Amino acid sequence: MKQLPNYFGSMVFNEDAMEKYISSSALAAWKKCLADGTALQLDTANDIAEGMKTWALEHGATHFTHWFQPMTGLSAEKHDSFVSPCGHGKVMMDFSGKELVRGEPDASSFPSGGLRATFEARGYTAWDPTAFAFIKDGSLCIPTVFCSYSGEALDKKTPLLRSLDAVGKQALRVLRLFGDTQTTKVISNVGPEQEYFLVDKALYDRREDLRLCGRTLFGAKPPKGQELDDHYFGVIKPRVAAYMKDLDEELWSLGVCSKTKHNEAAPAQHEMAPVYTESNIACDHNQLTMDIMKRVASRHDLVCLLHEKPFAGVNGSGKHNNWSLATDTGKNLFSPGKTPSQNAQFLLFLAAFIKGVDDYQELLRTSTATAGNDHRLGGNEAPPAIISIYLGKELDDIIHAITEGIDYVEVSKRSLRIGVDILPTIPQDTTDRNRTSPLAFTGNKFEFRMPGSNQSVSGHNVVLNTIMAEALCWFADRLEGSTDFQHDLHELIRQALTDHKRIIFDGNGYDESWVQEAKRRGLANLPNCAEALPTYMLPKNIELFTKHGVYTESEMRARHEIHMESYCKVVNIEANTLIDMIQHHILNAASHYSAKLCATINDKRKALPDISCRVEEALAESICHLNAELLDACTDLKTAVNTIPADAVGEARLRYFHDVVFVQMEKTRAIIDHLETLVAADFWPFPTYVDLLFGV
Ligand code: ADP
Ligand code: MG
Repeated sequence: MKQLPNYFGSMVFNEDAMEKYISSSALAAWKKCLADGTALQLDTANDIAEGMKTWALEHGATHFTHWFQPMTGLSAEKHDSFVSPCGHGKVMMDFSGKELVRGEPDASSFPSGGLRATFEARGYTAWDPTAFAFIKDGSLCIPTVFCSYSGEALDKKTPLLRSLDAVGKQALRVLRLFGDTQTTKVISNVGPEQEYFLVDKALYDRREDLRLCGRTLFGAKPPKGQELDDHYFGVIKPRVAAYMKDLDEELWSLGVCSKTKHNEAAPAQHEMAPVYTESNIACDHNQLTMDIMKRVASRHDLVCLLHEKPFAGVNGSGKHNNWSLATDTGKNLFSPGKTPSQNAQFLLFLAAFIKGVDDYQELLRTSTATAGNDHRLGGNEAPPAIISIYLGKELDDIIHAITEGIDYVEVSKRSLRIGVDILPTIPQDTTDRNRTSPLAFTGNKFEFRMPGSNQSVSGHNVVLNTIMAEALCWFADRLEGSTDFQHDLHELIRQALTDHKRIIFDGNGYDESWVQEAKRRGLANLPNCAEALPTYMLPKNIELFTKHGVYTESEMRARHEIHMESYCKVVNIEANTLIDMIQHHILNAASHYSAKLCATINDKRKALPDISCRVEEALAESICHLNAELLDACTDLKTAVNTIPADAVGEARLRYFHDVVFVQMEKTRAIIDHLETLVAADFWPFPTYVDLLFGV
């Protein structure tokens, strides 16, 4: 039997493998590059490439590819074989340092938001030496960044690496103020919990909407959904268990530390959570996880749906992004700590986080704004679209005591003085957590619950890292020259908490009264992409990203274009798919069934003149009416997608696709869902929600 410790990471060219396959001088040079953040010299790269090739060939690889994360949100790979002709009809296995560190894929088919003119189609990929190469499906995959000819980021990894630098730099300034001379680097750690649905492949194949859009565009509500809560943490069915086992093994061999697996709230919904790791690696691993989840499913005649809302009426899927900051000496900077000085440092990091989130609510919200996630946020199953922070009672009380300067009774019957008193124990207990909060403090990390299941986690962490960098910078700028550190620290923390405590909310985020309350507090409520995406380009956001070197303004503009375009494209594809399914199948099915009912009525009248045809008549009449309504709705939808107003460009186009096309799709869907409940099963051309959700 395979022993886990032996095969964990067996397909990864990690440090252990490097030690075996490359010279100690090359290994040392590589480590120095990591520590200093400098580029590899070509001779070192050649040495590493040679070792990597030998290792890869021994592990069955035949090809190599630069593996990168373009703005599609997926991972991309272009495979080259190691084979190189060497005369006399023979081949040798070739892979050089140059091929390791740099690639030149044609970039013209990846979204660039206008950063790269088509005639300047070259894009460059460059090895990210902080991420290990791995073998997937016989190919050696080399994690790389992807940028344009002129060095602008065209991918999701580059800004993440830049944001890590930014937050690391500012956090270090703050740590030095507290006398920490040991830490040389601060990193952010991420543990992304991944939700997904599994459906039967044969049923999936019969739904054009699932195949083309990843979600059902219609489907009557099943008689049973998740109301009995009998699925959540329930016994895992054998077919799903076999899938999960296979998935774990595959992920482990790739060094992904898959840890927790369980059934989720909706029928057919499940979750996988890895052990957290450095955010750059966590992000790579999450991309890999989504890819492997889909591949493994097909081996089990299943399909893994990563869409945020494959089925209306039951929970959608999110990706909880657990985030924290830690030092290279192993200290978690969001751990409350047990001494008075740890208390002060913790409260500064906490206050900085609160300030950052309040100042840049729109940016955090925008990082989760996709067509798919629009179905989820605010739907009383996922966090509302309003950003707020949940801290729990203990921290709420502490913050209250600090901002009001009043006694903090719980601890000591005197006011809590920063840097002087010891904090009370803050429970890491997870049972009474507020599940309706978009950002919850869970003992020593923040859980960002808004991200969609299908999204790359890069964007969220770019925002979290950068807003934290800015808030820490605010503190450092004011404290570095201070002559009375203790006093100024206390005042600054008090000021930040006072100014930004409006973002803290511990009530029920699903309650309608919260929308009113949030409005009163002046918090942003951006319920959908049409409202959220335009805020990306707010002047304060441009200032933030350019100041910390995370994006240039033109990189931001490009991303903004891509996000808006992608929303419109998704809605457009969905609308066309819906039209296609209506025209080719649904109108026809309803018409056939009503014709069949009419034929029955005629037959019955002849054979049994005294018997009523009430059932057939009522059904036929309702179906004929609904089908006519559907025809009209479908015609309106076609008009909406085919006659986009000429002035609908940029943000106006976004609005149009939301307010006109999407709204018309919803109207059309309601008619289909009603029809589905009336048409006999053997006439209905598609698997139903019952089939899909309870079919595995
Ligand atoms: P729950 O479903 O109760 O939120 P899980 O155990 O499913 O909890 O997921 C918690 C996630 O948070 C895991 O991926 C875990 O590794 C991660 N995590 C734990 N501690 C930290 C930390 N300090 N920083 C970042 N992520 C963390
Ligand atoms: Mg969670």
